[in-house]
Amino acid sequence: MATHEHDVVVVGAGTAGCYAAATASDAGYDVVVVERKDEEEAGHIACGDALKGADAFPEAIPKSQLASSFTNTDVDHGRFEIPQEDTVLEIPVPGELAVIDRWEYGRSIIEGAERAGVEFHYDTVVKDVTQREDGRVTGVRGKRDGSVQRYNADVVVDAAGSLSILQDKADLDQSTFDTNVTYSQFCSAYREIVEVEEPVEWSDALVFKPTERAAGYLWYFPRTETEINAGLGFQMNEEPMHLVDDLKRDLRNRPEFAGATVEDKLGAALPTRRPYDSAVAPGFVAVGDAAGHVNPTTGGGIAGAAYAGKYAAEAAIDAIEDGDVGEDALWEYNERVMDHFGARYAGLDVYNVFSTAVDVDDLMGLLGALPSDKLAEALYSGSANVGWWLKVQTAIKSIGHWDLIYDLYKTKRHADDLIDHYRDYPSSPDRLSGWQARRDAIMDDIYATTGAEPKY
Ligand SMILES: Cc1cc2nc3c(=O)[nH]c(=O)nc-3n(C[C@H](O)[C@H](O)[C@H](O)COP(=O)(O)OP(=O)(O)OC[C@H]3O[C@@H](n4cnc5c(N)ncnc54)[C@H](O)[C@@H]3O)c2cc1C
Repeated sequence: MATHEHDVVVVGAGTAGCYAAATASDAGYDVVVVERKDEEEAGHIACGDALKGADAFPEAIPKSQLASSFTNTDVDHGRFEIPQEDTVLEIPVPGELAVIDRWEYGRSIIEGAERAGVEFHYDTVVKDVTQREDGRVTGVRGKRDGSVQRYNADVVVDAAGSLSILQDKADLDQSTFDTNVTYSQFCSAYREIVEVEEPVEWSDALVFKPTERAAGYLWYFPRTETEINAGLGFQMNEEPMHLVDDLKRDLRNRPEFAGATVEDKLGAALPTRRPYDSAVAPGFVAVGDAAGHVNPTTGGGIAGAAYAGKYAAEAAIDAIEDGDVGEDALWEYNERVMDHFGARYAGLDVYNVFSTAVDVDDLMGLLGALPSDKLAEALYSGSANVGWWLKVQTAIKSIGHWDLIYDLYKTKRHADDLIDHYRDYPSSPDRLSGWQARRDAIMDDIYATTGAEPKY
């Protein structure tokens, strides 16, 4: 057995892990990233390749070091194909957007972290978490080439992605760490990189389309005019889809893909839920997908993962400086996540809950009738201003959807209440249970209004 000693050990060389590691290393700490993939494969991650918030990255690995992977920066709107209504909605996307070469991006963030002084141990699968009797996490244990590797550290950063094994192995019951996590709060997704013969007409758009069955959607995101990321996903509380076959069927029906060749195939799970109520325990912080930091309506998780990595490392640095890596000491991380994007994502999750309880055809009919600028606002902000209700009322096309519109209106008010409540996220762990009780009461109202099955 080999034993390694570091200030911070980060598990996972994805976006959250690289940003956490680079931030701590920049501040002079000794950081190792432990990654199960080999050096060549690291950074090769299943993704739609759409990067929202492409203008702002934490400074530890600045955007200038990633720009070569931004293969399409001309995308400025979403194109929602609604076959049930024979309609295509063109919806502007606020903020900067890019479609990226995801593997190239993955390599760039690893290089960025290396430049900041981070050590990478590849081919090392973490299998367990080491803890003291009082619950404090002290490190991880993994395997490389059949030999056991033990890593001791002041703080362990769990950046191992969706359904992280670290959280299965660690006993976090003595902390407030959110363990209310089930597979049904995740989406199963698959994508292919497809080279087409002629430039597509929609190279400035992200194309979305609902799937025929189960709650899910297909996407076509243009990396370039001829290289398309084509994929689909479904929420895992629904009847499973045959992702590969269903994608093939849609591709066959699209003339622009005639004669196309498939360059790469990958699938994975991603969290489509609210962020963890708390992602800290003594000596332990979870970041990115490992803490539910994904926009649950779009599946976008790259930007959240980068910022979560930064906030986690900054909290870890403060805690190590103070000689106390307990839950209280790391708590500022939860507050910064909730303040930056957590409240918004929790609000957006309400629309996911709503969509599980309505008929997909009715919902598509309604989407086809709504003013597209307000849809864009709702999609990205978790809410939309009050004026949209009046605009909707005047939308002649929405006749026939009034009941659904009214349900959506009530749901929106609950989502606003929820976002307000998340703005009051507690400043210490001892106040979390009271905050959770009030939040759960708001969620009960949401389930009652929508008729949806409780998600948590
Ligand atoms: C199909 C699909 C499409 C998506 N599309 C988009 C999109 O278009 N835009 C967007 O912004 N987001 C998208 N996402 C979400 C986005 O990819 C994630 O939110 C983001 O990658 C999260 O980064 P992360 O660092 O938390 O985790 P990851 O990028 O998953 O990194 C986790 C790392 O941990 C390693 N690891 C896991 N377990 C262990 C272990 N036991 N030991 C050692 N190493 C381990 C993994 O090998 C991996 O390198 C998509 C996700 C999927 C699955």
